[in-house]
Amino acid sequence: MAPETNPDEVGMAGRRMSRRKALRYLGGGAVGVAVLGMGGVWTLERSARLGSREAEKVKKARIVVAGGSIGGLTVAARFLRAVPDAEIVVIEPKEEHHYQPGYTLVAAGVYEETDVVFAQAPLFLPGMRWIKDSVARFEPERNRLVTSGGTLVEYDFLVVGLGVEMDLGSVEGLAEALETGYAGNSYMLPYGRKFRDLAASLPSGGRALFTYPKGYVKCGGAPQKICWLSEDKWRSEGRRQDMEVHFLTPQSSVFPVVPVIDEIVKPMMEARGIQHHFHHELKAIDVSTRTAIFLEESENGTTREHRMKYDLIHPMGRFRTPAALRQSALTADGIGGQLEVNRETLQHKRFPNVFGVGDCCATGAPKTAATIRKQAPAVVGNLIDAILDRPLGHLYDGTSGCPLLTRHGRCMMFEFDFQGQLVNEWLYQSTKETRLWWEFKVHGLKRLYREVMLNGYV
Ligand SMILES: Cc1cc2nc3c(=O)[nH]c(=O)nc-3n(C[C@H](O)[C@H](O)[C@H](O)COP(=O)(O)OP(=O)(O)OC[C@H]3O[C@@H](n4cnc5c(N)ncnc54)[C@H](O)[C@@H]3O)c2cc1C
Repeated sequence: MAPETNPDEVGMAGRRMSRRKALRYLGGGAVGVAVLGMGGVWTLERSARLGSREAEKVKKARIVVAGGSIGGLTVAARFLRAVPDAEIVVIEPKEEHHYQPGYTLVAAGVYEETDVVFAQAPLFLPGMRWIKDSVARFEPERNRLVTSGGTLVEYDFLVVGLGVEMDLGSVEGLAEALETGYAGNSYMLPYGRKFRDLAASLPSGGRALFTYPKGYVKCGGAPQKICWLSEDKWRSEGRRQDMEVHFLTPQSSVFPVVPVIDEIVKPMMEARGIQHHFHHELKAIDVSTRTAIFLEESENGTTREHRMKYDLIHPMGRFRTPAALRQSALTADGIGGQLEVNRETLQHKRFPNVFGVGDCCATGAPKTAATIRKQAPAVVGNLIDAILDRPLGHLYDGTSGCPLLTRHGRCMMFEFDFQGQLVNEWLYQSTKETRLWWEFKVHGLKRLYREVMLNGYV
């Protein structure tokens, strides 16, 4: 937090508001969280009422969750709310829990690192048994897995929530570039902090590049959010006019996944003088000459090299699932090492006692915590159905959400479905940049994540 100069002001690194105003927003966040929590309790009550014989059967099942981040822990917590006194094993190597949706705000200078990191242990509710280790090998044919420490873990049912990671080897020179004084990245906390500092000192007349990777992307909005927020900051500091800001993506537009939003943000990018380059994939970075090398694909499929010098780059590599998953029988050809699940039931297509949640799943849904909030009830409901030998009766409808931070103090909030159609537009006023959703993103969503999701009230 920035040092407090006036006791009547509270600050989020560089942004100040009156204490009364802050309390009002925090109060609004608390009310929102309370309402969502109550909604979660209500749906839990309705969806997971079990008779005592059923509950006994469910309690006897040996359930293992691989990965204890927001996906794995939300499923485990919701399961324990539905079946108190049960036990569920969670395998997770990290002692720190990272609130990744806050990473963009760290890189943009709104949050401090301490706002997004908290201890893992208190997140484990009674009934969760934590194996502090990582999965080294899945053996789904034998209903078991082996950890890096050599522990053999057998299960009746497995939930996989291993997430995805950026593959720094996917772009030549990327790892090297991140160690120089000209590159940072909001996806990895230390590089996010570094980006914030480099952006603050970028000289006027400098050229900044923001890139977007090919393939599936964790939070597909984040690479442009940091572009929007940086551009806005440079503008508000009066440094923007001599600067060049470029957004380069292999996609065909700025936000093609949701056409209605794309129709707004593409002209907005043009109006703000951010030069967009479509069909551009970052292939390499030459750190010695500070040059980013892109492969530009034309409409007829031919490619050409496009080289651009930079003074600051926010480079993105491709994403992949952790080795234990992508090298296992749980994935399949053509799905990039992701978990092969039915996109609605989240049940594995070949191993019916295996379910998935979150980023590691091949559902085609956006890889966001907002997706997990909608998936977790389906996973838990179907897990219980499977244990009780019932047909699976819970479907994830493909809905996800995005708080698109378009400038400091403004956010477009929208939910959309598998087809890229907006959902609940009346509630979000999705096509507008509003102060309200900015405040909710900065003050409310972390509470929703921490208090509602991680406590299983989804
Ligand atoms: C910069 C950025 C901005 C984002 N913004 C938003 C946003 O605004 N809104 C939103 O909803 N989402 C956002 N997200 C996305 C959101 O953070 C992810 O979708 C979410 O964290 C995915 O949760 P997960 O549990 O599936 O995977 P992760 O959170 O990635 O967790 C995977 C877990 O598995 C563990 N693991 C890995 N390998 C193994 C192994 N072999 N054995 C055991 N455990 C293992 C890891 O330690 C980790 O704890 C953002 C993400 C980033 C990086």
